[in-house]
Amino acid sequence: MKTKNLKTQVAIIGGGPSGLLLSQILMKQNIDTIILEAQSREYVLKRIRAGVLEHGSVELLKNAGVGERIFCDGKKHDGFIISSGEDSFRIDLSTITGKSVYVYGQTEVTIDLYKAQDELNAQIFHNVENVKISQLDSDLSKIRFNYLDQTYEITCDFVAGCDGSMGISKNYIPDKIKKNYIVNYPFSWLGILSNTKPLNHELIYASHDRGFALASMRNEKLSRYYIQTSNTDKIEQWPDELFWKELIKRLPKEYSANIEVGKSIEKSITKLRSLILEPMQWQNLFLAGDAAHIMPPTGAKGLNLAFSDIFYLSEGFINYYTKGSLNKLNNYSDKALKRVWKTVEFSKWMTSILHTLGDNNKLMNKLNKKELQKIKKSKNAQKVIANQYVGLPY
Ligand SMILES: Cc1cc2nc3c(=O)[nH]c(=O)nc-3n(C[C@H](O)[C@H](O)[C@H](O)COP(=O)(O)OP(=O)(O)OC[C@H]3O[C@@H](n4cnc5c(N)ncnc54)[C@H](O)[C@@H]3O)c2cc1C
Repeated sequence: MKTKNLKTQVAIIGGGPSGLLLSQILMKQNIDTIILEAQSREYVLKRIRAGVLEHGSVELLKNAGVGERIFCDGKKHDGFIISSGEDSFRIDLSTITGKSVYVYGQTEVTIDLYKAQDELNAQIFHNVENVKISQLDSDLSKIRFNYLDQTYEITCDFVAGCDGSMGISKNYIPDKIKKNYIVNYPFSWLGILSNTKPLNHELIYASHDRGFALASMRNEKLSRYYIQTSNTDKIEQWPDELFWKELIKRLPKEYSANIEVGKSIEKSITKLRSLILEPMQWQNLFLAGDAAHIMPPTGAKGLNLAFSDIFYLSEGFINYYTKGSLNKLNNYSDKALKRVWKTVEFSKWMTSILHTLGDNNKLMNKLNKKELQKIKKSKNAQKVIANQYVGLPY
């Protein structure tokens, strides 16, 4: 069968939050895009992931015309709780920074982005296979892929690799140029979603001798809870009843006394790691989001960092297509990476201080407890945490 030829300005690989937001911002500036997504839309929308939006992410979504529902269905959070055993304190985000975060699930963000893209008649191909990029060092690059038994070839000015941690885009940066910085943590997160009332109106990050726990939520009737587990634990070892028992032991009694337990509607185990790939650009290829960096969910940074990449990248494309200047695109990798390194550092610090290591690491566990006590008393330390948590400025 003959190959079908398509043409666009920016071809985007990956129809997750990064790819969709990039396309949305560009299309609103009359820049032509095509999105290629390996999964069905239903599959993408079923993924339960991030839930906390930084101030900057909310502004970005609002400016892209997809912020409306965040302010109706999302919940503004002015602070969060950190506990160490029975001891707890609050990081007052709004008093310290003048800003807040919004609890609004990644699933909802993705629904809003697909809806907005449909309204702009975006070209989104789902269930694509065998995506292959070529001619990245020419004026025009090519992407071949299969869709519904047909081979397609896109000719484009630029390729945006927004295809997440398992994507193919990053493989096109030559090995001799690419640097991967990776930390694998010696623990995982077991997370559940349940149709129960959240136990507190703000998130609780709980450090405990038995391991870390996080009490989070998606809305007033939907709770998201996590507990630290070992890297070898399997879901089958964690029936709901055992999960709730363990969670309750790790949260301060003043909060766990109010917990509503119920059946889990989603349960998953995630191994934690931090990863940064440098550079985020090679020739006509630009990486954004999880394709270039991954971090543990502690600190709620993954989705937010993906969005700050998209802010810088969309600025670069808009500058090129409206003013003919490549400056911002050429600076994209350096600019994005500055924020990436600071954010990954914060996420790693928060992960290290809140998690418990095994009995062989009693020293680290005790030092972490002491540091948490210091933070409770130090306005300066709380200021640093609050500023990072609401998100560094773009
Ligand atoms: C289990 C889990 C829990 C998380 N929890 C949190 C959290 O609590 N807080 C937080 O801030 N972040 C969290 N994250 C991280 C957050 O979800 C990601 O940072 C965010 O999804 C990044 O968006 P993205 O668009 O860059 O990548 P993705 O969402 O991964 O999207 C990439 C898309 O590319 C598609 N794709 C892959 N390969 C190809 C290909 N070859 N061709 C075409 N398409 C392709 C994929 O199907 C996918 O739809 C979590 C992540 C996971 C996995």
